Parts: sequence; structure tokens; C-alpha cells
Amino acid sequence: MTLRPLPKTVAPVPDELLSGWLIRLATINYCEVDELLAHIGISVRHPATFDFEVDMATLEKIAIAARLDPKTVGSLVFPPMSQAEALLTAQFPFQSCPDCSRQGLALRHWRRAWAFDCQICGTRLLSIFAIPHGELASEKLLHRARRGAGHLELAIASNSAAHLRRAMRAVTFAMALQTVRGDKAFALQHPRPGVRIFCLAAIAAAQAHPLIKAAMFSRSIDGFARAALLRTYGKEPRLLAAVDQIVKRNLRSALLPEAESHI
Ligand SMILES: [Zn+2]
Repeated sequence: MTLRPLPKTVAPVPDELLSGWLIRLATINYCEVDELLAHIGISVRHPATFDFEVDMATLEKIAIAARLDPKTVGSLVFPPMSQAEALLTAQFPFQSCPDCSRQGLALRHWRRAWAFDCQICGTRLLSIFAIPHGELASEKLLHRARRGAGHLELAIASNSAAHLRRAMRAVTFAMALQTVRGDKAFALQHPRPGVRIFCLAAIAAAQAHPLIKAAMFSRSIDGFARAALLRTYGKEPRLLAAVDQIVKRNLRSALLPEAESHI
């Protein structure tokens, strides 16, 4: 069968994802993406799987149909990633830019756990699962979360195991405080935006002081935070002993406020 180009084509924008661009290509040709793919002889259960890996034959079929260079189509697929980068890159969309998505765009960086603002228009990315007017984060928390996201991006870009470890420890602590279970990477892509924002903010807090110190200096450490610390630092008895002392001292301070000592 000779493949004929589609009546209309659309140029990809920088950082566009293959699955998103295919939807735009289908829309401009007045069909659904699965109809478009079937028409050009490609069978796939979910086009989003093409965002990570696509074989040359498929690339060529799409390229002919869209009258584009196969290289251009291939550039819409994520390049090979390190293990940490892959863990922090969502397989399926979890956030989007309210402005750019209205124009039918789906960009690669939106899938990154560290992406906070849209690189095209600067609008804050929002969870695609969030209920409108749901959990509202304060500006201060958002500011911290944005900084935390920046630290996470830097840890990945520099491939620094130490920075990544510190960031993920902060996430573990934040998850414990929020009684969120499961995978740390998933918490950073959590459908509940409050969880994600809190975890990112914790990463920022852990940069200023190692988290254990931040917790120790906090006057508001309570039983719940202590339980969170126990979970996070369970394998570090020396630090736990220090936390215990601080908790006891804080309890004494609470009972005798006038005897409160400055740490
Ligand atoms: Zn945007």
C-alpha cells in the first residue's frame, strides 16, 4: 500500500510531545487520533506510549503522512534518560498549562516532576486532575515550591546523587507529614496538587538547612512531625537521638515558657 500524505499538516512547536502533536494533526484533518493512526497503518493502544519510544517504521509512516522529515517527528520523542530522570518524568500527563493546552498543545516539560511554570508562556502549570477551586496553596508556599522545583531540576541536570538524595529525603519527610504513602517520585507528580506543592516546598526547605536541623530549629515540632522524622531518618540513630532531645526540651519549654532557652 502506498501511503498518501494527509490533506493538511501542522508544524510541531519546540518541546512539543509526539502524542500531543498527533492530536493536533488529527484535529486539523477533521478526525480522531486513533482514526488518523489507523488510516496510516499504525495500531497502538495509547499514542502516549510513542512519547518514550517509537520505531523507525512508525516514524516514517507518520512523517510521510504529515509531509515532514522523520527526524523532525523523532525529535518529539523524549531522548534517552537517566534512571532518576525517568522516574521523575510522568508516563502520562498529570499537569498542563491552562493557556497553552487551550490551543491544543502538550509539551514535554509538563511531564517533568520539577516543571512548575510553563516555559512557553510562564503560566503556572496546574494539575489536570484538580477540582476547580480545590486546595488553594498560599503564595508563600507556592514560592517555596517553585524554588524546590528548581533545586530538583538542578539535581537532575547536574546528575548529582548527593543533591538528589537530599531532595528525595525532604520528599519522604513531607510525605510522612501529610500521611501520604507510596512512591516518592509519584508524590512529586501527585494528582492532589497540595501534596506535590508541599513536597516541592520541602525540597527548598532542605536546601537552606539539612532537614533534620530545620526540624530541630522549628519551635512547632510536635508528635506528628516527630513520627514523620522517625520514618524519614529511621536508619540514623544519632540524628533520632538529637530529635528526641529537642522534643523533650520543647515539651519542657511549653510547660515552662519563661525557662525557654534559645537554640
Ligand atoms: Zn503555557
